[in-house]
Formats: sequence, structure tokens, C-alpha cells
Amino acid sequence: MTTDRIIDFLATRRPDGPCLVVDLDVVRDNFTTFRRALPDSAIYYAVKANPAPEILRLLASMGSNFDAASVSEVELVLEAGATPDRISFGNTIKKERDIARAYLLGVRMFAVDCVEEVEKVARAAPASRVFCRVLTDGEGAEWPLSRKFGCVPAMACDVLRHADRLGLTAHGVSFHVGSQQTHLGAWDRALADARGVFDTLAAEGIVLKMVNLGGGFPTRYLKDVPAAEAYGQAIFEALSRHFGNRLPETIIEPGRGMVGNAGVIKAEVVLVSRKADNDNLRWVYLDIGKFGGLAETMDEAIRYPIRTHRDDSPVEPCVLAGPTCDSADVLYEKTPYPLPVSLTIGDEVLIEGTGAYTSTYSSVAFNGFEPLRSYVI
Ligand SMILES: *Cc1c(COP(=O)(O)O)cnc(C)c1O
Repeated sequence: MTTDRIIDFLATRRPDGPCLVVDLDVVRDNFTTFRRALPDSAIYYAVKANPAPEILRLLASMGSNFDAASVSEVELVLEAGATPDRISFGNTIKKERDIARAYLLGVRMFAVDCVEEVEKVARAAPASRVFCRVLTDGEGAEWPLSRKFGCVPAMACDVLRHADRLGLTAHGVSFHVGSQQTHLGAWDRALADARGVFDTLAAEGIVLKMVNLGGGFPTRYLKDVPAAEAYGQAIFEALSRHFGNRLPETIIEPGRGMVGNAGVIKAEVVLVSRKADNDNLRWVYLDIGKFGGLAETMDEAIRYPIRTHRDDSPVEPCVLAGPTCDSADVLYEKTPYPLPVSLTIGDEVLIEGTGAYTSTYSSVAFNGFEPLRSYVI
């Protein structure tokens, strides 16, 4: 969504080169919308989606908690004014010395998905709370996170049992249904698994308290997505179905859904060409590509809305590519992207919905292109 504030900023500041502009008013609205849609869940913003200090400060001031994946992210959150009890170290893959550093900074909640990781946490962060991540199939997600993190529910029972034995607090179960998840039913299957883990352990006297519902809440790109209220309703119904009236504490970890629609990338057309005189497919090269922040176009998974000053003229499918000397730096080719026939060298384009997973994915200086500049207004 290109807000008037973003349009004004670009018109008055006229920044040179590609840049991301994030409107904090949109982030504020998103936070309020999540709080209303899931009033009983604590919000842990997934810092990796966009760790800009202005965003972290705003969310900290609104009462958000934070899901951090590394010690640097923990430090960023602390600098933004949140206390360490509001931070979850949600990465299941951590060096033991990083667990120890986070513990020294006051963090007391850690994600695990195997007994090996539990042993690290028990040594480096004694008596902390741990939650175990279970696998999901990621079905319905445009950016699935399935196999790398989590374990099967039976193993989650072993992991939490082991945590309990080592003096940690076996706090709960987490999952992530996959990013940009557009199936409202995705949480239902995962909650059925969570309930199974709760029951097995309760029978042994280990009482879990928390279900971490993860992220997955979408941003609107080219297609409509269900509203936050619909997610809240579907999740509440699934929780009730599986936990009856003994609902566990829940937390959500929105990343994309919190900041995706708050950002717009301004870019420029560097070249429009064809591969042969009789070729009717045009290639449009921008001054930003996969290495400048648009990594989520990998496999053409995320299709961003693109606006130009010529949107009232007829469109034709184009291959859209970035500016670097790497042939992987093509954004959309399998499914060409419709762009105005009159689009020409030097035209500015606005790539919408780019507030999440762009500035952090941009390379430092591949081919000498500087990292994506970002303005938070
Ligand atoms: C990346 C991540 C999130 C955020 O996911 P979105 O789909 O962007 O909301 C939440 N939790 C964990 C553990 C993550 O790794």
C-alpha cells in the first residue's frame, strides 16, 4: 500500500537509487488490528521481518513482545526499550555461547526442537522456560518453512520430558504454519498435534501452559487475503475445538503481517530490451533485484504489486530482472509480469508490500551495488 505519506516523502526527498520507505502509521494500525483480532494472544513481533530501530521502538512502546533469532536481534530489541522478559529466543538452532549471552542479557524463554538443543539450554540458561517446535506441512503457505524446524509430536514429548528432567520449565509447544499462509484451516491441524503433546505429558505430571501459534499472517500482494479478524476467528475456533474450555496461554509471532504492507520500494527502469528482433517478449531490468532485497521472488514465490506512472496505458507480459551480473537475478520469468507497453528507461516504479523481508535480505555489495537503503517515516 503506497500511502500519501510515502508519496510525499518520495516527492520531496527524491532519494537517488533504489530504497525502501516504511510508513510507521501502517505498522501501528497492523499492531492494533492484531491485538483486536487475537485479544487473548500475546504478540511477539518476529524481528527478522524488519529490524529497523524505529519499528522496534514503536512496537515496544505499544506493548509488543519480540521473537528474536540471534543475540544481535536480542540487543536491538533491548536498545529499542523492551525488557528481556518480553523477548523469546525463537531460533531452534543456537550456539551454546549465544544462549549464554542471551541469558546474561536476561532472556529466559528459548525454542528447542531436539534433546541436543535442550541440553545446551539447560547448561547455558539454567531454569529457563523452553517450548518445543513441532513440524507442520506448510500446506497453503506461499513461503513454507516446513522441514528445517521442528520435530514430530512424539519426539516433542521426549524433548520436553528431557527439559523437565534437566531443571528447565517445559513451557509449551510452538509451530509455524508457513509464511504468507492463506488457508485459515492451517492452524487447526497443528493445534491438534499440540493438544496431543499437552495430554501425553499431563499424564506424566508435566503441565504445559503455552502454545506459540507462530507467524504466517499474510500481506496482501496481488491477490486478496483473508482479514486478520478471519484468522482470529479461525484460530479461536480451532483452539476451542482441541482444548475445550481449558485454553492454554497463546502467543503469536507476526512478521510479514506486521510490516509487509507498510513498506514500498522505489526503483528505476535501467533497460528495456528484447532478445531478438522478432521476439515479442520484452525484458525489463530494474535497479533492484534478488540481491538488492527482493530475495523472496525466489521460485517466483512472492509476486509483488508494481505501480508505474503509466498504469493507464495497455500492458504486455515482460520478464522482470535485476541489475546484477548473475543470471539468477531474474524476478519473474516463468510467469511473466504484465507491465505497460510504454514503460521506458529511466521510469520510476513502486514495488508495494515490501516492508517485510527485503532490507535484511539485501546483500552488502554484490557487484558493487550498495545495500538497500531504508527510510522509516
Ligand atoms: C520468521 C518467523 C516468524 C514470522 O513469520 P511470518 O510468516 O513472517 O509472520 C515467526 N516465528 C518464527 C519462529 C519465525 O522464524
